[in-house]
Amino acid sequence: MWMRLPGLPLPCQNPSILEVIGNSIGHFLRLDERTKRLKYPMSPRLCVEMDLAVKLPEEVVIAVGTEEIYHQKIEYDQRIGFCSFCLLLGHLDINCRKKQNQANTDGNAAAT
Ligand SMILES: [Zn+2]
Repeated sequence: MWMRLPGLPLPCQNPSILEVIGNSIGHFLRLDERTKRLKYPMSPRLCVEMDLAVKLPEEVVIAVGTEEIYHQKIEYDQRIGFCSFCLLLGHLDINCRKKQNQANTDGNAAAT
């Protein structure tokens, strides 16, 4: 799953640090090519494998040095929908046919 870390402090934009951050969110997979070349200094983009059954975190806590703690906001790419009903990627639950079918079945059952 692709995500951005908008406004990440420059010292944290080292690829190895981004990997550590990615692993603290989920399982780090790779960096965006442009992020690797530091073309997107304000908003590094990384791909992290996430457990989609769990609610996605909105921020990650980064310890800068030993004392400074920084709350980094995470922005997820919404180009791929995620259905919380059938736990699949590719559509959103508002468009979910399974969910709609089940709602219809429940309605019929209640009516009879
Ligand atoms: Zn669905």
